[in-house]
Amino acid sequence: MSEQRSKADNVNWQGFSTKAVHAGYEPDPLTGAVNVPIYASSTFAQDGVGGMRNGFEYARTGNPTRRPLEANLAALESGSYGRAFSSGMAATDCLLRSVLRPGDHLVIPDDAYGGTFRLIDKVFTQWGIEYTPAPVSDVDAVRAAMRPNTKLVWVETPTNPLLNIGDIELLAEVAHEGNAKIVVDNTFASPYLQQPLQLGADVALHSTTKYIGGHSDVVGGALVCNDEELDHAFAFLQNGSGGVPGPFDAFLTLRGIKTLALRMERHSDNAEKVVELLDGHPAVASVIYPGLVSHPSHKIAAKQMRRFGGMISVRLKGGKAAALDLCSRTEIFTLAESLGGVESLIEFPGAMTHASTAGSALEVPDDLVRLSVGIEDASDLVGDIEQALS
Ligand code: PLP
Repeated sequence: MSEQRSKADNVNWQGFSTKAVHAGYEPDPLTGAVNVPIYASSTFAQDGVGGMRNGFEYARTGNPTRRPLEANLAALESGSYGRAFSSGMAATDCLLRSVLRPGDHLVIPDDAYGGTFRLIDKVFTQWGIEYTPAPVSDVDAVRAAMRPNTKLVWVETPTNPLLNIGDIELLAEVAHEGNAKIVVDNTFASPYLQQPLQLGADVALHSTTKYIGGHSDVVGGALVCNDEELDHAFAFLQNGSGGVPGPFDAFLTLRGIKTLALRMERHSDNAEKVVELLDGHPAVASVIYPGLVSHPSHKIAAKQMRRFGGMISVRLKGGKAAALDLCSRTEIFTLAESLGGVESLIEFPGAMTHASTAGSALEVPDDLVRLSVGIEDASDLVGDIEQALS
């Protein structure tokens, strides 16, 4: 392996769980509370005009429950600056408006999350932004999609829902050669499995609604970076347009983070068992899971991820009817959008999470079912899929 490709070998995974439990917060000096209190206050008393206590002025600008969350998120992604948002899409919107100006161009995955695609395609194009879809698994195609006015390369890896893998290190080189920034939507992997900033990305983005929150009880988003100027731009818009999480949301997200490492191990264990059942099952045309040696980018996934996570996509021999049938027959896997929670979910991307891609270059196959494998007992999950396929 050339020196260029050694970054992934040098990713420092040390201390992740300790950071998850402790980073950003020490027991409250006043009470000793070991958890961050929910500071339900929209405004903060000043000691004379401009005399803010610890920088708190108004809760859109900063809140004492959100601040430890932001410090914790930065630590998890091995970054210097973290910003929390009211949703993953609010984080996406903040990033796009911070980096792009009318006349700029960005490259997006040709199977990007439907909401990301919709925002760019339906809203940002109206403000003079151009985009080109390219497969993240093909570095040359991404390079070919770059233009002189390309300011951003958007990467998801694994992608939602086709679980394509992009080589973050190489894609970062391509983006930087063209003087563009690179953001990695790290939602599917979580920072426990993948560390984009250590691999050369400029920004790690999350829908914290998913693995980071982990319990399907809160919607949120995050941006983490190492560049002070960029972080200032994020902070300006975060305050300027106000897509911030409330203190209860920040508390729930912090509480979820404490068990992120444990959950990701269990999600990965369980997903491997479900993949074993699906791989070679007579009703299944193909199983898409980056941990499978048959996955076209398995080697890249193995290089940059420490395990392969809890998301599986499966294409059925019986086409759309079989896919819809599977979605209606599971008993433990709940038919619902979203992913990354402790409970297993099943969905039909073509008509649910990715309905907005219909008719576009990003349209997903209609025989595709997506599974978010939870932390229940593996034998129950395997049994559920087995009976639903039978
Ligand atoms: N990025 C990915 C990969 C997602 O799957 C999602 C939501 O499903 C988002 C971003 C948007 O996040 P949110 O739903 O928290 O706005």
